[in-house]
Amino acid sequence: MTRNGSTDAAIAAIRTENLTRIYHLEGEDIRAVNGVSLAIYPHQMTAIVGRSGSGKTTLLNLIAGLDDPTEGGVWIMGKALREMDEKARLALRREQLGFIFQSFGLLPLLTAAENVGVPLRMRGVPSRQREAQVSEALEWVGLTRRARHRPYELSGGEQQRVAIARALAAQPHIILADEPTGQLDSQTGRRILDLLRRLVSERGMTLAIVSHDPMVMAEADVVHEMRDGKLIETRHKATG
Ligand code: ADP
Ligand code: MG
Repeated sequence: MTRNGSTDAAIAAIRTENLTRIYHLEGEDIRAVNGVSLAIYPHQMTAIVGRSGSGKTTLLNLIAGLDDPTEGGVWIMGKALREMDEKARLALRREQLGFIFQSFGLLPLLTAAENVGVPLRMRGVPSRQREAQVSEALEWVGLTRRARHRPYELSGGEQQRVAIARALAAQPHIILADEPTGQLDSQTGRRILDLLRRLVSERGMTLAIVSHDPMVMAEADVVHEMRDGKLIETRHKATG
């Protein structure tokens, strides 16, 4: 049998090692993320939970290469972010990562279909292929009939479904979601969570969700709990 550590390094979609981010604010050091080592595995729904201010968003930004650690490192599919220049990180975000945000992050002047097409445009996908991928993604989230609507003409739940379609259309390996149910009522949140589960079960995606929603914790396959920047516990969903 392989040692756990080396197995982790081989197959983790995301790995962090002693990941630390210290903010210097008015002479004070804030350890927003403090020595976090964790692995997130492919084809699972992993939740990173903890109350507000525990460092979840900072951790997600470090994983996405949008922020640099003070200490430690991040590996995405085995590749060290610290060894990538800005161009390589941008390529990684375009090719391998999808993002879903609490506030949906849709461009207000674009239709649902145009919003879904944005990451495909950035990748230079030709228009005909782009249209096909956009339609497929909108259909998958059940919004074909809302394709020409703009965000203000959609409910919160519908906007988040557009955001899910946008993350899905580019077919990334990994989707990172920051409080995806945070602005939704619990019934709508439940529907969004079911859709996120289907990203894993039907589309084989690797999903990392940052949240303090108890529903997310109950649904996730693995839950990493943070407190004051530290990883304090990792729980695995009972199977069978
Ligand atoms: P969460 O997403 O769990 O609510 P955050 O990662 O946003 O937590 O924040 C973790 C800690 O880091 C908080 O104490 C927050 O005030 C602090 N923090 C976050 N971003 C910054 C920043 N840009 N400058 C200074 N402190 C920050
Ligand atoms: Mg946050």
